[in-house]
Amino acid sequence: MERTHRWAQACYDTHARSGQSGRQALFGIVQGGTVPELRRQSAQYITGIPFDGYAIGGLAVGETKAEMHDVTGLVCEGLPTDRPRYLMGVGSPEDLVNSVALGVDMFDCVLPTRVARNGALFTPTGRVSIANRRFAEQDAPLDDTCDCYACGNYTAAYLRHLFKAGEMLGPRLASIHNLRFILRLMSDMRSAIAERRFAAFRANFLDTYQPTDEGRRQAQKHRWIEERGA
Ligand SMILES: [Zn+2]
Repeated sequence: MERTHRWAQACYDTHARSGQSGRQALFGIVQGGTVPELRRQSAQYITGIPFDGYAIGGLAVGETKAEMHDVTGLVCEGLPTDRPRYLMGVGSPEDLVNSVALGVDMFDCVLPTRVARNGALFTPTGRVSIANRRFAEQDAPLDDTCDCYACGNYTAAYLRHLFKAGEMLGPRLASIHNLRFILRLMSDMRSAIAERRFAAFRANFLDTYQPTDEGRRQAQKHRWIEERGA
């Protein structure tokens, strides 16, 4: 954490001297693992440097969702309200909605495309596997509320066929769909906030969207981390 802080100050100073600071936003990153006291110290130190925005790092790396939620909430309390907050490496649709509720503005994550390549697609009621037999005869888009290229041009049965046949078009269409799902979710949240109905939006989303089972999620994540050799 202290090394992160030294780097943050060095980055800020270099960026400020570069003459490019008006052209590129520099964010400070709060660290501290899942230890509340370290998170508080880190938030205090990092927000003492006038960055353009503040990121929450060191989460979504194998801790439980409850820990992630608690740390995100704790750090958000220590961040200024007039700068964007960025939660790094998150996440699933329900994590996005819950983190926005805690005050997060921005995210980045490989999840939508990584699970898409394995045939897992987001729908308004939860994540589904396109390999499931129930899609074999579905002569309609995977999600008829979706305006993406895949749903606009292909049936769920055809998408399933592409995966079964090992055609590269399958993962590509699935990635297009999942990215559109996430971008639309973020856009819907921005509208709900602007119209002061975010609490109702969140309650409705969490009622409808069935999250992927926590145990299975952890097992998948560990497998993925092992495969990556991290
Ligand atoms: Zn779609």
